[in-house]
Amino acid sequence: MALRIARFSAGEDPKYAVVEGEEGAEVLAVLEGDPLYRPIQATGERLPLEDVRLLAPVIPRSKVVCVGRNYAEHAAELGNEVPPEPLIFLKPNTSVIGPLDGIVYPRLTSDLHFEGELALVISRICRQVPKERAHDVILGYTCGNDVTARDLQKKDGQWARAKGFDTFCPLGPWIETDLDVSDVELTTTVNGEVRQHGRTSQMIHDVASLIAYVSEFMTLLPGDVLLTGTPAGVGPMRVGDNVSVTIEGIGTLTNRVITHD
Ligand code: ZN
Repeated sequence: MALRIARFSAGEDPKYAVVEGEEGAEVLAVLEGDPLYRPIQATGERLPLEDVRLLAPVIPRSKVVCVGRNYAEHAAELGNEVPPEPLIFLKPNTSVIGPLDGIVYPRLTSDLHFEGELALVISRICRQVPKERAHDVILGYTCGNDVTARDLQKKDGQWARAKGFDTFCPLGPWIETDLDVSDVELTTTVNGEVRQHGRTSQMIHDVASLIAYVSEFMTLLPGDVLLTGTPAGVGPMRVGDNVSVTIEGIGTLTNRVITHD
């Protein structure tokens, strides 16, 4: 069954809920438990979406796995060749933030970029997953922004710093558990102006291939997130900008760029 699973702030501990209702009038059906680690149960409590603060739908306990240059036009716009195999890197779980949280513009960069991406959430411990079984290990999909300090990425040679600052991995607004992501539209806007407009069918390596490739060399755990690469149109953000990533069938993730302390 298709579910939209949200995580929200409820005083002490975050809670999960199923998002119900039409766009613009969503209601959260509050759950007890946790769809990743514990059995879930409906509580009967319902809250209007507008009354709660959504959090990142998942905070990975171990890792965010990312793929670089998975759309040919994006590789070309940065002057890169398409790599023969998926180019894999990691973001630390400390980079994850939720909807409407601030992306902090670090003092160490002067070229901060957005990268709108389809993100998927792993549902269970797995390794060496064959392509044909990849969908068995996916809890669902959400929107992601692979925020990148482009100048540091070029300077450092490896990408841990450029991709790994706190707040560099916005995720949300919720996890859509049942979606055919083979050809959905992905749009990134800055202050309402369209900057990226692609379709997931333009991915060089599809979701199943990426899970097979990554799980061949590292164990994936429940709650791990895989960012699947960004289409063409990446560009700079400035303090005060509102950046939104919208994926057809999921929803919109919006964050504002804020200044460092
Ligand atoms: Zn990326």
